[in-house]
Formats: sequence, C-alpha cells, structure tokens
Amino acid sequence: RQAQIGVTGLAVMGRNLARNFARHGHTVAVHNRTATRTRELVAEFGHEGDFVPAESARDFVAALERPRRLVIMVKAGAPTDAVIDEFAPLLEPGDMIMDGGNAHFEDTRRREAALRERGLHFVGCGISGGEEGALLGPSIMPGGSAESYRALGPLLESISAKVDGEPCCAHIGPDGAGHFVKMVHNGIEYADMQLIAESYDLLRRVAGYAPDRIADIFRKWNTGRLDSYLIEITAEVLAHNDAATGGPFVDIVADRAEQKGTGRWTVQTALDLGVPVSGIAEAVFARSLSGHNELRAAARELPGPERPELHPDDAARFTENVEQALYASKIVAYAQGWHLIQAGSKEYGWDIDRASVAAIWRGGCIIRARFLDEIRAAYGGERAPVTLLADPGFAEALRAAQNAWRHVVATATELGVPAPGFSAALAYYDALRAGRLPASLVQGLRDYFGAHTYERTDRDGSFHTLWGDDRGERPA
Ligand code: NDP
Repeated sequence: RQAQIGVTGLAVMGRNLARNFARHGHTVAVHNRTATRTRELVAEFGHEGDFVPAESARDFVAALERPRRLVIMVKAGAPTDAVIDEFAPLLEPGDMIMDGGNAHFEDTRRREAALRERGLHFVGCGISGGEEGALLGPSIMPGGSAESYRALGPLLESISAKVDGEPCCAHIGPDGAGHFVKMVHNGIEYADMQLIAESYDLLRRVAGYAPDRIADIFRKWNTGRLDSYLIEITAEVLAHNDAATGGPFVDIVADRAEQKGTGRWTVQTALDLGVPVSGIAEAVFARSLSGHNELRAAARELPGPERPELHPDDAARFTENVEQALYASKIVAYAQGWHLIQAGSKEYGWDIDRASVAAIWRGGCIIRARFLDEIRAAYGGERAPVTLLADPGFAEALRAAQNAWRHVVATATELGVPAPGFSAALAYYDALRAGRLPASLVQGLRDYFGAHTYERTDRDGSFHTLWGDDRGERPA
C-alpha cells in the first residue's frame, strides 16, 4: 500500500508528528537512520494508525504515493543537508521535501533554490509546540511554493491545532518565509518569558510575596487579558515545591538561563534588516548575562540602594501596576516582532499576511494567547497599522497603562531590581512618540569628526559644516 506522507527522523518530534498523521487517518511511511527507532515506533504505537515502516531510503521513497510528500525531522544544520542529499537523487520532479526542523531561514532559502533547479519542491516549515504539540496539534508555518501548499496543506491542516474550528496552519510565503516566521515566534517567546520573569522578580523582591502567592496572582491574571499558555504554566512552576528540600522549586533551580539559538538569530536578523527589536534583544542578553558566573561573582559586592519595607496596601497596588506594565511591554515586544516580519517580507518578497500569522499562533504554539485575536483584528482591517502601537485598541491600552508602567520601571530602578525588558519596552514607546530625538546631535557629531553630512529640517539636500574652518555650511 502507498503512503500519503512519509516522515524520516523519528526522535521525539518526528515520532510524534508521524503518530499525529496516523491518528488523523493518513497512511504514514516511517524511516530513521538507525532502524531500531523505526521498529520501536511501530511496536509501541502501530495500533494507533496505518504505518509503513521502511529501513532503507529506497524502500521509504518507494512507499510514498506520487507526487511524494516527504517530511524530514532531523537535527538542524549539517544532518538536514545530509538527509536531503540522500533522498533528493531518489525523487522525481514534482515531489516535495518538507523540513520541519528548526532551520535558519537562510539555509532554507539555499536548499529551496538548489532543489527547485532539480524540479523538486522544498518546504521549510516552522513547527511550534514542542513534543506534546507535535502529537496533539502544533502550530504549523510552512514556506515554499504555493503549489506545494496545495498538496501538503490539507494534511498539515488536519494535524495542526484548531482554534474556533480554524486550523493553526497557513501558507506563510515562498522559500524561507515559514522558517523566518518561526524564528520570530521564538524571539517573541524569549521576550515574553523575560517580561514574565521580571514580573515575578518584582512581585517577590519589591512586593515581598512568596512564590505560591505569586502563583495565585499569575493564575488570576490568566483569567484576564493576559490569558496565555506561558502565564498559565508560570503559575504551575511557581506553585511547585521541590521534593528534596520541600521548598519552592524556583529556589533550587540554578539561575542561569540557557538558549538554543533562535532568539539570537532573531536579533542578528533584525540587526541586518535595521529593525529595532530591543525587547527581544534584552531577553537574549538577560539570558546570556545570567550565565556569566565570573562577572556576577566579581560584581556581587557592589552597592545597591536601601530597600524600604512596602506597606501591604502598596504591595497590592504595586501588583496591579505590574500587570499593566507586563501588558504594555508585551504589546511593545509583539509590535517589534511584527515589524521584523514586515521587514523580512519586504526584503525577500514574501508578501506575508500578518493577520494570518497572528491567527495560526492562537493555538498549538508556546506563545498562544487570547491577545493574538486582537493582533489578528488589528491587521485584518482595511488598512494595516504602521505599528501595532498605533492600532486604536492597543494605543488605548497603552494610554491606560502608561502611568502604572512608568511607576513600575521607576520603582525597579530606585530599588535596584533589574527590569531590562520593561525598561527597554518603555524607552521604545517613548522614543517612537517623541517629537524630536537626539539623533540630531548624533548626526552633528558624525559630521564633525567624519564629515558624514546631515540633512536639514528646513531644506532638501545633504550638508556639511566646515568645523575646522569658518564653520560655514556647504551642500554636500
Ligand atoms: P533531534 O534534534 O535530537 O535529532 C535526532 C534525529 O536526527 C534522529 O532521528 C537522528 O537519527 C537524526 N539524525 C541526526 N543526524 C543525522 C544524520 N546525519 N543523518 C540522518 N539522521 C540524522 O530530534 P528532535 O525530535 O528533538 O528534533 C527534530 C527537529 O525538530 C530538530 O531540527 C529540532 O530543532 C526541531 N524541533 C524540535 C522541537 C522540540 O521541542 N524538540 C520543537 C520544534 C522543532 P538517529 O536516530 O539515527 O540518531
């Protein structure tokens, strides 16, 4: 019998994705470099659906109906190239290779171009939701040709998460668009987690609450506009007690945050495209700072401010302010992420539908949230806002939150509690709304030392002042 789809690479992600296809009634060919994984999958989960195990690449390809749909779920980087090189010669024009790994979008662009030359469709596809999402319904972000989406889309939509009956899967755009959007998703996830972590830190160190109390606060926030997966699991993690010590779990976890690299890619790409993603950058830097033990040890004795005791009434009010600051900063982080998507779409000619990105992130993925309905609405209207901050709904939320937001950042600064995510978000907000920025002085300095020239507010053209001479101005 012929399989509608094949999955090669049967570690946690590939195995669960293959099971998800099978559970949705598709016949799935399965293959892995080390054949024991293939046998284990069929032995353990064969009863869940129709699997066609293959031990050789040739048998795997032969098991697929035409045009062939082959999904690669192996380690990103060189292993992905190795697997493509192994399978591409066995395929025929019109066949599709989908890479569901966490590839860099530039690699995806390169692979897509190379395979297109050979008449093959290469679909770089972002998949979010981790191990559980892969099995129960992830958020799926496929790139590649529109033609490949016609063949692959219905299968992917069938296994994706659903929100209000809509699949969390949509064709993002050509070549690397899917992996680009997945990268930005992860960058936003970094920013979101950093803002949550800062909120926790402030509630603990300024308001003086214990972790289980803070868990209750997050649980309450999760019933309001902050309703999201990350807020929900924050309450779970904070309420958890360590079995060995009996104390709060957060207190026995080493405070060095790790990263696999997608946050860094997001910031590197934003730097290349000239997009200010300060919220994401601060989140990446905060993780990196946390891991520098030697710097932290060397600075431990540096002085901080005196900490006044907070009156319980003030602690309650402060908690409400933190909710406002978190919401406002979150709007900024998402606005920056969407700006990056817009810039990438323009740079690479992808024509990404920004409302649809919000729609498919509402379920399955790590940043799923009620809030995304509003982003979808903001981009779904006749005229897309230039920035999310200028969307009437978000602008009103920022207006209502700004005093609380400023108070939280000021308090954090005064009491010496680092809040780089909140501060960077507020600075971005204030910089965008400023009538005049000191960039004028920066331009003056550049002209002084490097004759880099400047533009004037009152006349067209570029100018240079003869700083070392009579300080007269010349057109450049
Ligand atoms: P891993 O990233 O741990 O990769 C293991 C798989 O890659 C195994 O099947 C392994 O085969 C195969 N592999 C490694 N090198 C080669 C090679 N040279 N040739 C052939 N096969 C090779 O697996 P995961 O399931 O964790 O992730 C798969 C992909 O999905 C990755 O790109 C990951 O970044 C991405 N991803 C992971 C998520 C997660 O939550 N884990 C979430 C979203 C995406 P063998 O058994 O023979 O060693």
